[in-house]
Amino acid sequence: MTRVSILSFDPAAVNCGIIVGTDRSLLVDAGPGPAAAAPLVERAGRLGEEIGGSRPRAIELAITHDHWDHFFGAAAAVSAGVTAVYASSSFAADQDATAWIALDGVADGDFPDEYRSSLPTDPGDLIVDVSPVDPTPGDVWHLDLGDCPVEFHVLGGHSTADLVVRLPELGIVFTGDLVEEADAPQAGADASLSEWASSLHTLLSFPEARTFVPGHGVPVDRDFVSRQLADIEGMRVDQGDAEVALPARSMPGDHDRTIPREHRLV
Ligand SMILES: [Zn+2]
Repeated sequence: MTRVSILSFDPAAVNCGIIVGTDRSLLVDAGPGPAAAAPLVERAGRLGEEIGGSRPRAIELAITHDHWDHFFGAAAAVSAGVTAVYASSSFAADQDATAWIALDGVADGDFPDEYRSSLPTDPGDLIVDVSPVDPTPGDVWHLDLGDCPVEFHVLGGHSTADLVVRLPELGIVFTGDLVEEADAPQAGADASLSEWASSLHTLLSFPEARTFVPGHGVPVDRDFVSRQLADIEGMRVDQGDAEVALPARSMPGDHDRTIPREHRLV
């Protein structure tokens, strides 16, 4: 039996995934800080208990990319019991510098005091031991959670390395910020529109994929990903790989957009 849930946390309304297999569980992104990571790990443990099994499952973590809202919770997740952290080799190599720069950015940014005071003052306290999951060329890195195979694909475009988590038997793909819903996809100095377009082509080449979990916003379908790809390709023709403002797109229909929230997929 498998369970897949998405928990969304502020600041930044970031999505974190919980995938529970029969043997172990995988989190996708640790959220913006300790205040998100602790309940995320606790919820993963409880979902495992609900499903049952002969022993408690190890909980592991995959980090999609090196933006603060996705990885500042990682060290707190490890403190709360996460036993392994997977990320791109680019994340592993840049983690120290990124944590330092990003913590500085948050300290100077427009955030609630409660959030700021929840973060460590030393960027070294945000660092975690990482197992890089970049496959050899033409290969894919696999993980089996127990009756739930997982594939890691290291792509890029939104950042220098965007790790995508594909659940081929469930038709679900966690895309990190390669896809964003409701808010405009953020294309900053580390983005590359040409690489981004190629990554979205890769996502659409997964024939079974029906549900894409964006880094922010509600889950989207293939049409949404195609539309975002068209937006990015259009911008690329006009502006090359310069920093651009991409349009915000929303999934049609009524959706629960409260934060925090939990959305169960499976
Ligand atoms: Zn993000």
